[in-house]
Amino acid sequence: MSELHKFLFEGLPVRGMLVRLTESWQEVLRRRGSSRVTPPEVRALMGELAAAGVLMHANIKFDGALVIQAFGDGPVKLAVAEVQPDLSFRATATVIGEVPAGAHLEAMLNVHGKGRCAITLDPKDKKPGQQPYQGVVALHGDHKEPLQQLSQVLEHYMLQSEQLDTRLVLAANDQIAAGLLIQRLPVEGMANLGGSRRSSEELIGLSEGFNRVAHLAATLTREELLTLDAPTILRRLFWEETLRQFAPQQGEQGPRFVCNCSRERVGSMLRALGRDEVDGIVVEQGRVEIACDFCGRKYHFDPVDVGGLFVPPSDQMPGSQAIN
Ligand SMILES: [Zn+2]
Repeated sequence: MSELHKFLFEGLPVRGMLVRLTESWQEVLRRRGSSRVTPPEVRALMGELAAAGVLMHANIKFDGALVIQAFGDGPVKLAVAEVQPDLSFRATATVIGEVPAGAHLEAMLNVHGKGRCAITLDPKDKKPGQQPYQGVVALHGDHKEPLQQLSQVLEHYMLQSEQLDTRLVLAANDQIAAGLLIQRLPVEGMANLGGSRRSSEELIGLSEGFNRVAHLAATLTREELLTLDAPTILRRLFWEETLRQFAPQQGEQGPRFVCNCSRERVGSMLRALGRDEVDGIVVEQGRVEIACDFCGRKYHFDPVDVGGLFVPPSDQMPGSQAIN
């Protein structure tokens, strides 16, 4: 079962999370079906995005969607994962072109150095005019070297936008998408823990504690992350540390696949395209058929439906009179 494990390191300003998406991730791939060719490298990227999205949303208190979008200038134009506050998620990718076998981030998304990764926090109840918060990072490191792993890009984002020192290990195949996150908690908060101020030596010790844990986390191989269960991974990595573990979140409380697409949303997307464009499709194909990118569900709009989309709201109310 898909599950999220949260834990703290006793006495250290460090927290961690481990996510394993199994049947929920297989469902994402199953729904993509064979209608769209998705190379294994892109499937792995989608899985890593989904695992990272769940970890990042579980790491903040935010009532809205967290969306990670990778915009590419190579064969992969877009890869996206969206996670809701209840940890339900969906993911998709758009591939136009040949993905080289064994391709990493650069060959998929950053062939000309223009690839970007955007992290958006989209509040559920937006006030009028309120914009979602968005942070954007390039797909290269501090010395302009192209990054090959999504985890490196997201570590960069966390440090840049949230000043949070983070280690991420991500991996995915067709059975499982998994990730480990280790994060340094702000030491200011730790300084006064328990009512007693800590000495500067103690603070340095706490900082070294994070470095030690981060180093251990970085020894986790993708193979181990994909094949071992959560207790085994945590025991192997951190057997010398004292972990405080919380009950794993699974089932209705855990990460799972949900697509929140709807006919209304597809309708507003068509409205945004404009009447000429949509009428053009109706003339050509007799009706509009749209399949949801995330879940494959099909929506049909016949000529009458399309007409209804473009009628001003005031004309739709029965018996209403146009004012002025
Ligand atoms: Zn859908």
